[in-house]
Amino acid sequence: MPNKHFCQGPHCHEQCTTDRYLKSKGIIRGRYAYAKIDESRYYQESDKYFCSQGCKNEWLNVNMESIARRTLPPFIEHRRISEGYEKRTTSHEGWQGKMYTSSSIQKIGVDNNAD
Ligand SMILES: [Zn+2]
Repeated sequence: MPNKHFCQGPHCHEQCTTDRYLKSKGIIRGRYAYAKIDESRYYQESDKYFCSQGCKNEWLNVNMESIARRTLPPFIEHRRISEGYEKRTTSHEGWQGKMYTSSSIQKIGVDNNAD
């Protein structure tokens, strides 16, 4: 295991990005934090706890109320996952009839193409 914390972003493990997706299990996994625990030269302290600015902001949005109440937000010590995802590839007809494909990771059973 890398010398890193797991990202503390409350919704990190629910974001459908290719690097979070594990095809063999059909799951979305939370990321590791951006910086190593013992690496301090180039990073902000918060980089040891979050994979991105987005996750950091999300953590503030979710947890500031508990900070104000003087209660501790949970510390994420295990890699969290979301189950039931698949990669879908679709073909589109583009300009002048040229065909192209695009793929995305989506929740199984959810039809995102419904009009
Ligand atoms: Zn994250």
